[in-house]
Formats: sequence, structure tokens, C-alpha cells
Amino acid sequence: MSTTEAPTRQLDFIREIVEEDLRTGRHSTVITRFPPEPNGYLHIGHAKSICLNFGIAQEYGGQCNLRFDDTNPTKEEAEYAEAIKRDVAWVGFDWGKNLYHASDYFEQLYRWAEDLIRAGKAYVDSLSAEEIRELRGTLTEPGKESPYRYRSVEENLDLFRRMRGGEFGDGAHVLRAKIDMASPNVNMRDPVLYRIRHETHHRTGDAWCIYPMYDYAHPLSDAIERVTHSLCTLEFEDHRPLYDWLIEHVPVPARPHQYEFARLNLNYTVMSKRKLLRLVEEGHVRGWDDPRIPTIAGLRRRGYTPAAIRSFCDRVGVAKRENVIDVALLEFSIREDLNLHANRVMGVLRPLRVVIENYPEEKSESFDVPNNPEDPDAGTRQVPFSRVIYIESDDFMEEPPKKFFRLAPGREVRLRSAYFITCTSAVKNDAGEIVELRATYDPSTRGGDAADGRKPKATLHWVSARHALDCEVRLYDRLFRSENPEESGDFLADLNPDSLEVVPQAKLEPSVRGAAPFTRFQFERLGYFCVDPDSSAARIVFNRTATLKDTFTRRA
Ligand code: ATP
Ligand code: MG
Repeated sequence: MSTTEAPTRQLDFIREIVEEDLRTGRHSTVITRFPPEPNGYLHIGHAKSICLNFGIAQEYGGQCNLRFDDTNPTKEEAEYAEAIKRDVAWVGFDWGKNLYHASDYFEQLYRWAEDLIRAGKAYVDSLSAEEIRELRGTLTEPGKESPYRYRSVEENLDLFRRMRGGEFGDGAHVLRAKIDMASPNVNMRDPVLYRIRHETHHRTGDAWCIYPMYDYAHPLSDAIERVTHSLCTLEFEDHRPLYDWLIEHVPVPARPHQYEFARLNLNYTVMSKRKLLRLVEEGHVRGWDDPRIPTIAGLRRRGYTPAAIRSFCDRVGVAKRENVIDVALLEFSIREDLNLHANRVMGVLRPLRVVIENYPEEKSESFDVPNNPEDPDAGTRQVPFSRVIYIESDDFMEEPPKKFFRLAPGREVRLRSAYFITCTSAVKNDAGEIVELRATYDPSTRGGDAADGRKPKATLHWVSARHALDCEVRLYDRLFRSENPEESGDFLADLNPDSLEVVPQAKLEPSVRGAAPFTRFQFERLGYFCVDPDSSAARIVFNRTATLKDTFTRRA
């Protein structure tokens, strides 16, 4: 068995099981599946499941199916299915020909339900949903049997066929497995397998008015696809006995096994699709791809790369114990990738004009600047310079405190890759605000080095005013104020009102002109930025992907 991973890699408990099953010959190939319900966009938690399922298939020469769990006709939309396919592919995985839908199996699932009825293992119950709930018992008390539990096979078959035929309204009957109302596991107390829903399904249209429950459809779909390892999150652990019961009592062509791992939780955000849907529908964010939410589409728009998402999932690992991952680890992963791969440019978010008085009015020149010091193959670009430049306004202080080494009256600093300049004076408006600086430059420091070896204490980024490109820059902060926005019970009350700051008039060096949406840059000294799809030929819009500073300390 060949693997593409480094041999030193420590196996997680699921890969250990997979290797053991291959070694003992329990399975000759491994088949996994990623089973999203198309009722929302995928988030970074799903990415963990995607990397696990597709990753295992890739590493062990197996197969991973993309299966839409589309058993609920009311919440699902074709738009979501398309978005899910786009996102899985973007994260970097290929399901090849193995794209399936639980709805493809509706006829087979129905026939197996009839088999269960014939075997005396399922019955039609005519109690209301509420009555069923009442008889179900609690964690400490056993349930009570429904008065309809002992209907004859003939009566059950007749009713179930008429359910399918559309004779009854929603909720009139359900099909239940006949297992054990006294089971300590409530999932085994005659779980509902089918319910009546007179709803149009986005794929099967009006062909059906009964729909299988997830707990029924899932194991049987796994078996139909001959999935070997059905990997899901821990909340399904208590459903495993039902999973196994169905595999045992239905004449399925294969015997898949379910394994559970801890879901990914991140601090300072919410992750369930239901909550993300509220953020989107109630307009708290701009859409499913808002760069502030942890959807794959949002992370993409924010400037994340597939490689960073995969390496994050790898670092998080797969284990059985629930925990909360620091969002700083996600940010660490994108910085690490962009540090190696994003070209550097200079841009000024809050421009302060500097007039270099001894530089000729009409003159301009340009400097050949490496695009990425981490990547010698990234080449160089021309950065123009002229008499009037912009610097970051907070890089100047009229009365600098002790530890402030940047520009101040009478002080010399280096302009990155250009010249040393010395500030001669600050020009103020009537309100006393500084509107412009005057400076001189030292022509002998061309390229940013002095022949006499003197070294200014600060190097500033800058943009030539005449050549600058006006851009919009969107700065993002955390969407929520607390680590666990759900703690208070109302996550919307915890929204950070300052999660988006728009800088309307940033000045960028002209080399960014024409950059395509999703192109990523490091703005020197400021952070990583990505071209937003809202950009037009006339105006580039950037999203800040991450600041430069790392708040995550790498664990040894
Ligand atoms: P949500 O709770 O966000 O609505 P879900 O579990 O209902 O998610 P599904 O579309 O049913 O969403 O999930 C598809 C697969 O992704 C499932 O196998 C599920 O276990 C897995 N998954 C969902 N959320 C996470 C997570 N946070 N971490 C790891 N895997 C997850
Ligand atoms: Mg679900």
C-alpha cells in the first residue's frame, strides 16, 4: 500500500483503523464519502470533513464520493448544491465520476422499507408527532409502545403504499422501525423512517410525497455505494446502533461501518449552517461569501488559499475529543502560505503628502524592486518615484515620544527601495491639522543605501502621488466580540459593530493595476490583501486577508 505522506507522519485514529483494515484484508480498497445536505454553504468545519474523507481516499488509493444528502425537500436548493461542488473542488479535491444523491436511491430505499414491513421490522404509526414524542420516554424513563405497533404486515403494507400514493395529508402516518421502546438509547425506540411531506423536491419534483429520514437513508446510501468507512462527527455516536441495526436487517449489498470524530469548533465565530443562514438572511453580513464568516466562499473572498485551508485542517488533526480551535491558528496558516507566495507591493491606507523639495518638479524615475524576497523566481517590478509621495499618516509624529523612530521634524528615514529623506517641516491647515510634510532627499542614497553606511532607524513604505492608484480597501475585524458568541444565548447580540471598516481612498503603487479578482498581495508593513470581485477596471477593491502580526504562538 503506497501513501503520499511522509513516513514520519503520526496517524490519527481513523487512519489507523483504515490501515489495519487494509492490512488484515477486511477491505481491499477504501471508499469514503462526503455527505453534505444542500441546505446552505459549506464552512471551515466541512473543510475538515472534506480533507479527512478525500484525504484518506487519496492517501490509500481509494475513492471518495460526493453525496448530497437531499432527503429533506423543504430546505434544499439547487443553488446550494452548485456552491458545494464549487467549494469542494476549490479546496482541492476531485470526486471524479462519483457524484451521487440520496434522492437517486429513493426507489430502492422504499423497497427496502417494504422488506422491513414484510419482516415484521417496521410498522405504520398513526399517532401525531406530538403523541410519538410523548410516548418516547426520556433518558431516564423507558418509552411506551404505540397502540399501532402490532398492526398486521398486510395492513402496514397497504397503509405504506397508500402513503406513497398520496392518499394522506402531512403527518397523518409515519413508518417506524420496530426495535425496542425500552432501549436505553432513545434513537432505538422505534425511530421514524419515513414521513409524509407534500413538497416538491429540487431533483425528484413531485414524484414522492413520502421522504426517508436521514437516519434511515444514510446507512443504506453508504451500503449502496459500498462505502467502507463512513466518517461522521461525534453527535452521531448515539445513532450508530441504529445505523448497524439497519445494515443488519436490510438486505444491503455491503456492510459499511460508521466512525465518529470531533467536529471542528473555532472561537470568535459561529459555524452551524442555521446560524450562518440567519446572518445572511437578516443582513448582518453581505452574503454567503462575506469575508467575515467562516464559509469556504467567505474565506476564498477574504483571500485564503486552498493550500492554507488544507494545512490548517492538517494541523487541527482528527481526534475523538471535542475542543475549540483558536482562530489565530487559521490566520497563522494563511500568513505562512502568503508569506511564501504573495507578491509584495506598497500601498498607503491613510495617506499623508510629502513634498520632497530638492527633487525636480518634472522628474520621475523608477526602482527595480523584487516582488518577493522569499521567492527568487517571483521576479521584479518597476516602482515609480517622484517629487510628491504619500506615506502612512501614522508614520509621522510632530512630537515623537522616545520609542517612536519613524518620521519627525528634522529626522531622516529610509523610503523602502528608494532614498533617505529628512523631514524639514509640517504644513498645517487653519484647524491646526497636519496636511502635508516638506522634506529633502539625499540623492546619494539611491536604492535605499548610504555609501557612508549610515542607517536610519526606520524604513517606510510610500507611493508616488502622481502614479498612485486610488483603491478601496476593506479592513475586517472579528465578526463577534466574545470567544464563544453563543454563550449568552443570543449570538446576534454579540456581533462586533466594527467588523468592517472601509478605507475609500487608499493609494496603491501602479503595478497592481489590472490585477484579477482573488490576486493576493502583501502590502509592505500592513498585511495581506486580496482583490475583491467587486473591483472594476476603474477601481480596485481590496480585502484585508490578515495582518502581518502573528498572534498564534506555534506549539513545539
Ligand atoms: P451544520 O451543523 O453546520 O449545519 P451539518 O452537520 O448539518 O452542519 P452537513 O451538510 O450535514 O452539515 O454535513 C456534511 C458533513 O460535514 C457531515 O459528515 C458532517 O459531520 C460534517 N461536518 C459538519 N460540520 C462539521 C464540523 N464543524 N467539523 C467537522 N465536520 C463537520
Ligand atoms: Mg446535517
